[in-house]
Amino acid sequence: MKKKQFKAESKKLLDLMINSIYTNKEIFLRELISNASDAIDKLYYRSLTDQKIKVDREDFKISIDIDKEHRTLTISDNGCGMTEEELENNLGTIAKSGSLDFKAALQKEEDVNIIGQFGVGFYSAFMVSDKITVTSRSVDSKEAYTWESSGVDGYSIEKSTRDSVGTTITLTIKEDTEEEKYSDYLDSTHVSNIVKKYSDYIRYPIEMELEHSHLKEGSEEEYETVKEQTVVNSRIPLWKKEKKDIKEEEYQNFYHEKFFDYEDALKTIHTSVEGTVSYTALLYIPSHAPYDFYTKEYEKGLELYSNGVLIMDKCADLLPDYFSFVKGLVDSSDLSLNISREMLQHDRQLQLIEKNIEKKIKKELETMLAEKREDYEKFFKAFGMQLKFGIYNQFGIHKDVLQDLMIFYSSKKEKMVTFKEYIENMLEGQDKIYYAAGESIDKINLLPQVEKVKDKGYEILYLTDYTDEFVIQTLMNYDGKEFVNVSSESLDLDSEEEKEAIQKENESNKDLLTAMKDALQEKVTEVRFTNRLKNHPVCLTTEGPVSMEMEKIMSAMPTEEKIKAQAIMEINDAHPIAQKIKTLYAKDPEEVTKYAQILYAQARLIEGLTLDNPSEISNLIIDMMAK
Ligand code: ADP
Repeated sequence: MKKKQFKAESKKLLDLMINSIYTNKEIFLRELISNASDAIDKLYYRSLTDQKIKVDREDFKISIDIDKEHRTLTISDNGCGMTEEELENNLGTIAKSGSLDFKAALQKEEDVNIIGQFGVGFYSAFMVSDKITVTSRSVDSKEAYTWESSGVDGYSIEKSTRDSVGTTITLTIKEDTEEEKYSDYLDSTHVSNIVKKYSDYIRYPIEMELEHSHLKEGSEEEYETVKEQTVVNSRIPLWKKEKKDIKEEEYQNFYHEKFFDYEDALKTIHTSVEGTVSYTALLYIPSHAPYDFYTKEYEKGLELYSNGVLIMDKCADLLPDYFSFVKGLVDSSDLSLNISREMLQHDRQLQLIEKNIEKKIKKELETMLAEKREDYEKFFKAFGMQLKFGIYNQFGIHKDVLQDLMIFYSSKKEKMVTFKEYIENMLEGQDKIYYAAGESIDKINLLPQVEKVKDKGYEILYLTDYTDEFVIQTLMNYDGKEFVNVSSESLDLDSEEEKEAIQKENESNKDLLTAMKDALQEKVTEVRFTNRLKNHPVCLTTEGPVSMEMEKIMSAMPTEEKIKAQAIMEINDAHPIAQKIKTLYAKDPEEVTKYAQILYAQARLIEGLTLDNPSEISNLIIDMMAK
């Protein structure tokens, strides 16, 4: 018999399985049962379109047999089976499911976690077996074949026999070691408990021989133990069970298995609605973004069932884009089984369900925000960006749905707050919402303009994501309160006297300021003295919709057109430098133009912007120092 070699990746995976220290080895059973169930599904679907295939739904089942003497555990199904070629292709290479993430993880050799993360299918059986034998007969073949492997050194495939279509997988269970009692997998009670734990909802009966105690015939107190073929699983899909009968652990197990997440979901939403349209939804909000979430490859959608039968595995129409992170399923008896994808899009029932689901998700997020702030912050870290896109996409038509789900860092509370909380915390007479934008909280704290606003007692929202200012500009105001950037020209915090004083100051130094502006040419629209700074000598404020931070973000984008902020250079009138240039101008107006260049460069550096002419600026400074 000729031994064949596994493909390289499979070999690596097998090696990992055989030597696995993964503690949750029992999941292999769930994987094999789920494959069996899929195989039966496939056969059933084939029978719907292929007249030649005759099946009786009642006959479908999965059987588990234990042979203690030979240390074997056997799982058989009467599903679609595999041809010789399929045995070769399916069991000689890594399975397709989640294969991309999976292969990437394998490359990184994050060994132990791989198993829990991906539920690696068939190969997981090698965690508990020395040898695996698969005998299968495909619905498309008269012949049966047996695939066999004892691990990394390869596998063989030979012709064999099987009475009917289906697959039988026989595991030779490993000998016990000090760490692991593999014999547990030869104990029928233990095995049936694992089946109940992970595979209870599987639609087909999972049968095995179990011991039951009965009263002895003719006796009223004497019991005898009888072995009986027993259906172990309840076969009720998890979502069809009563909420009160479901443990959180069951919800999470179901989530892990179905949606390939190794972490628990942050929130489970299980809801049944009766009305114009009736449905049950089981939805999950993940605790972290899948690796491809923010890419084009990510497909949103929910599984769609009609009365427990899967009709579509990713129904995109059930979720708005801004809630695309939600995983889960919808089961409705109001949908027709053989509805096509195209028809489904226009289905009124489906649209109603979508509307309801959207409302429900929003409500649950609001509850989390109000009652479990820590969870919500975790959620927002993972998916806040998606909500933000949702606000400014399509010119903000969804902003009302989403604005109360926003949280931003508050200068005062030093944690994330909602707009509502900001407003509740406003000072007497305050009618604006102040914000500042920058790369990080630390950097914003260093912005010259922030200091004075904070000093006056105002709370500032810190925008640190590149999307944030677009969000604010789309919203424009919240609850009638306008958003104002502390670096914007329109910030108006001075008293009338202060305004008047500074205006006078600017007027009397008109020539000086004009000379400075001319020296800077189109880099600024104006140079003036200001009250808005406390300790910093200089800053750039902006007029119009583009802030300095936005200029920075947009110039990093690969667009042709460079968008420039309209900047005003403001010099702190209370700073010694102000006095210095005023006196200097009277003596040496030429020298002042150099000061203008250097001050402008300083202001840009403070904002975290680059200089167009670093060597020129550097020379100017050196010249001054040398004087
Ligand atoms: P996955 O099920 O995630 O694709 P597996 O490694 O568990 O990966 O299985 C690989 C493939 O082998 C399956 O996709 C399926 O085509 C086939 N297969 C596994 N078990 C069975 C079975 N009991 N009956 C028919 N085909 C099976």
